[in-house]
Amino acid sequence: MRLPTRLARPLARILLALTMVAGALLVSSVSNPAAADGCYTWGRSLSQGATGEDVRQLQIRIAGYPGTGAHLGIDGDFGPATRAALVRFQQAYGLSADGVAGPQTFAKIYELQDDDCTPIHFTYGELDDGCGGSGYDGGPLSESATRFNALRTMWQLEAMRHALGDRPIIINSGFRSIPCNRSVGGASNSQHLYGNAADLGAGSQGFCRLAQQARNHGFGGILGPGYPDHNDHVHLDLRTSNFWSAPNCGVSLAAATGQAEEIDI
Ligand code: ZN
Repeated sequence: MRLPTRLARPLARILLALTMVAGALLVSSVSNPAAADGCYTWGRSLSQGATGEDVRQLQIRIAGYPGTGAHLGIDGDFGPATRAALVRFQQAYGLSADGVAGPQTFAKIYELQDDDCTPIHFTYGELDDGCGGSGYDGGPLSESATRFNALRTMWQLEAMRHALGDRPIIINSGFRSIPCNRSVGGASNSQHLYGNAADLGAGSQGFCRLAQQARNHGFGGILGPGYPDHNDHVHLDLRTSNFWSAPNCGVSLAAATGQAEEIDI
């Protein structure tokens, strides 16, 4: 019997969804029975030379371990920089530092992530409160691209938090929509517009410790005490031409192309 199109389409969709769910269950039960995770489950070990979405997912989680002044590319290609970042991640958590992401590494990542893929100590809500609003719309990028940037920012902050002794990091401002950024007097090209930036409170660490430590975790923009208007917070962002200026903390570096776009509150 041929069903009318208006009935057949939803039915086909339901069948497709059921098939996908069954397929996913089958794959996870065969390859990795104990480790299914609410956010993302890896189905194979990854080492140098591997490519794919599972590599990309790994890179997001270890983006906070690129080495001082460096930035890890999130490109799905497991090259030497990814291996070095993975070794640093493994060392940071006392795992065997072999540069191969296997069950031990994935178990640690599952422990560190929430079901929405954010690291356990940070949330999307913390990073979208620039003007007391919520959500990630109203910036120059799509909402999903902005959320992705915020996710990367959070994983880098998680790495920094761990390196600083697992003490809380306070975020005072993250993503800002265009009107929000304007209302707080942010620069027209502020990294906050892109979900790339976080302004930190002193917390128990103090501003200088935060500004100094950020150099090791992939933050290209670091502005803190001694830089104009940054004596009451530390601004971190994901720009890839390093511009670091917290002169009162001994933090200073400007790459040839670096620029202080940020006149930030
Ligand atoms: Zn800022």
